[in-house]
Amino acid sequence: LSAGELAAVRADFPLLRRTVRGGRPLVYLDSAATSQKPDVVIDAELDFYSERNAAVHRGAHQLAEEATDAYESARAEVAALVGARPDEIVWTSNATAAINVVAYAISNATAGRGGAAARRFALAPGDEIVVTEAEHHANLVPWQEVAARTGATLRWIGVGDDGRLRTDELATVVTERTKVLAFAHVSNVTGAVADVAAFVARAREVGALTVLDACQSVPHLPVDLGALGVDFAAFSGHKMYGPTGVGVLYGRRELLDAMPPVLTGGSMVEVVTMESTTFAPPPQRFEAGSMMVAQAVGMGAAARYLRELGMAAVAAHEAEMTRLLLDAVAAVPGVRLVGPADQRDRVAVVSFVVDGVHAHDVGQVLDDAGIAVRVGHHCAQPLHRRFGVAATSRASAGVYTTADEVAAFGAALATVRPFFGLGGAA
Ligand code: PMP
Repeated sequence: LSAGELAAVRADFPLLRRTVRGGRPLVYLDSAATSQKPDVVIDAELDFYSERNAAVHRGAHQLAEEATDAYESARAEVAALVGARPDEIVWTSNATAAINVVAYAISNATAGRGGAAARRFALAPGDEIVVTEAEHHANLVPWQEVAARTGATLRWIGVGDDGRLRTDELATVVTERTKVLAFAHVSNVTGAVADVAAFVARAREVGALTVLDACQSVPHLPVDLGALGVDFAAFSGHKMYGPTGVGVLYGRRELLDAMPPVLTGGSMVEVVTMESTTFAPPPQRFEAGSMMVAQAVGMGAAARYLRELGMAAVAAHEAEMTRLLLDAVAAVPGVRLVGPADQRDRVAVVSFVVDGVHAHDVGQVLDDAGIAVRVGHHCAQPLHRRFGVAATSRASAGVYTTADEVAAFGAALATVRPFFGLGGAA
């Protein structure tokens, strides 16, 4: 983005105009936790409630028609952003819920639900589910639960000292017994980008289903799920400049067709008698009850916003921010990076440890300077254990992040160890 384009992007985000901690400009470096929202997203929700609000897919009146149009256009917008067909996009409440839909559908198939078509999802003792050591709990705990319910075994691909996935382990950990291979496109701790092609190729060799956690890739990189060839993917609206309370499960159409429902009730059915029910085709089969329509419309606006900026331009800007963040962290003595040092292997999610200072204290010193970072285990306890740390501090950029903000972060980071009486200021 040129300086003018970046200024225009920042002007789109009202929250970035506010100050914190007694008048300091906000330096928001916590977009990996949740991003800020542009006016087009806020206005889309406002417009929906003030002009179009009605129950979708039901009423015979004009408002119901307009609400349904808005809801389904949003689905098409999100589909276009990620290289999917609209009927491959299922609305969920967040990425966690999306992964759980697949997990519970597998459990239901294992219990014999869904008939012959669903049998390909069934697991049995001896079958294996493979994840990675880098997963967010959202893409780990549901698989532990599936393993417990079905008798399948959970295995995982490790993480190297450099923070990258041990892709070489695919050849040994993923075997003919593997039925599901679930992994994050981008780690929310290390920022490392997975070699999706290698994962998909190995899964296809053994006939395993692939489930991609795309939470940290869809907002920051061009992502074409169709071209990547994954079977399922999950991502959240609130991390891609959209609203909270909405996320997406992507599923290849033929798989969604064969998959048994999870939540059941209104809106996901065809014929209901007192004895039994036939289910609607996807995506409706997986959208039981009244949905988060306004939030879906907001997520559609976010997808359109990103497409209009162009994901290549977004990724190029953020690659520059990644380099600056890595330089800022490397410049301060006593600060250790957790994740790949090479900018080409990662995105602008930069976690680090300040020797001798607890992450919460790091966060507080930075907050006093108006700089918002996240501290803790970032819902990835096994990955922190892997690196022998209880917590890290994490600075993460978005499309609105500027070089000046990263410079302010670097300057504040240099004050942390001296603040606690430790050596280290250059
Ligand atoms: N996976 C990754 C990689 C994430 O970063 C997050 C959010 N921190 C999630 C899954 C879960 O997203 P949500 O809380 O929106 O369901």
